[in-house]
Amino acid sequence: VGLAITDARLDGVAVGVRIEGGTIAAVGPAVVPEPGDEVLDAGGMVVAPGMVNAHTHAAMALFRSFGDDLPLMTWLQTRIWPAEGRLTADDVYWGTRLACLEMVRSGTTTFADMYWHPGEVARAADDAGLRALVACALVDGGEVAGAGDLRQAALASLDALAGASSRITPMLGPHAVYTVSEASLAWLGELAAERGVGVHVHLSETEGEVERCVAATGVRPPALLDRCGLLGPGTLAAHGCWLDPDELALLAERGATVVANPVSNMKLAVGRLLDVPAAAAAGVPLGLGTDGAASNNGLDLFQDVKLLALAAKFLADDPAVLPAGEALAVARGQRSALLGGRGVEVGAPADLLLLRTGDPEVVPGDHDANLTYAATGALVDTTIVDGRVLMRHRHVPGAEEVLAQVGERVRRLTAD
Ligand SMILES: [Zn+2]
Repeated sequence: VGLAITDARLDGVAVGVRIEGGTIAAVGPAVVPEPGDEVLDAGGMVVAPGMVNAHTHAAMALFRSFGDDLPLMTWLQTRIWPAEGRLTADDVYWGTRLACLEMVRSGTTTFADMYWHPGEVARAADDAGLRALVACALVDGGEVAGAGDLRQAALASLDALAGASSRITPMLGPHAVYTVSEASLAWLGELAAERGVGVHVHLSETEGEVERCVAATGVRPPALLDRCGLLGPGTLAAHGCWLDPDELALLAERGATVVANPVSNMKLAVGRLLDVPAAAAAGVPLGLGTDGAASNNGLDLFQDVKLLALAAKFLADDPAVLPAGEALAVARGQRSALLGGRGVEVGAPADLLLLRTGDPEVVPGDHDANLTYAATGALVDTTIVDGRVLMRHRHVPGAEEVLAQVGERVRRLTAD
């Protein structure tokens, strides 16, 4: 007994899809429901893999549009940090639920998160039905004096995530080289190896970060992470705006995934963007992230994939780089084994979308090109994760409760 999707389109062909135990068991023109299957009539819609948000701080959806158009440090010091100082574990749960609601509605089926109260992030993702790589943001203020607290937080975060469902992947989240001391980074490198967990870190986002790292340690951020044992196939490194060609080669050699966040980087004006075509050519595994909603201000990857492609073309002065299908593959997590994106194929996790094809926004033309350049997440009719239908005809059960919970919390958190 499973879930059967009938009358879907895949590569222009009418197909059926059968899902068993959260996995695609069969796909093709001859695939029909088996007795006892739940049947979902796609009505001619395109079946597509879900999108993978490879870097976000989901609960920051509570701070959407809170302090726009401010310089980064002013924004952090006068807006975000005071508000975050009031955050309770419950706030993080409901903030993450708000983000999950937006992600389900815009076709994201997996997200990689770095934030406080990781147990609540995991519980929210699980209750929403999404897949998530969950890391606690770990900081010691860049001082060895804070190392004790960091170690305690790191170990507690792994404990908090130990009982989570199979859709949740625990990771360690050293915030960045400027907020974590080298001693703590090295300790985290050992812990990650010992526990067999991945590492989610901000890397080379600003020029100032690179300069301060060189002044403090004698090396640039990627070399520092490498000597601390934090660069490997389990590494998710967000931003990479200031990586040079030698560093792209190092990241490729280590198999670390670099996550482009073009919208956040442009909004905060960090001066450069990850050179995605160069990174791809060097063999660096790649992903696409929105970053937190406070610096984006949305979590709709269909919007960000357009910016990913356009920025690459603009910076390369070449419209041929990063074609639509390739940008989409990055956004689907298909260019990183760590992110695990697959096609609509037998054996792949049943993380699927049904996308309308008749909306004027995507008529006429090639559907993949339209998904990259013309669509928004509003095109998603149905979202399926792990074989479970989370949204059907744009209805997500429980959405009203999430919105009601968020309203009062935002008023308390953002009050003067
Ligand atoms: Zn971030």
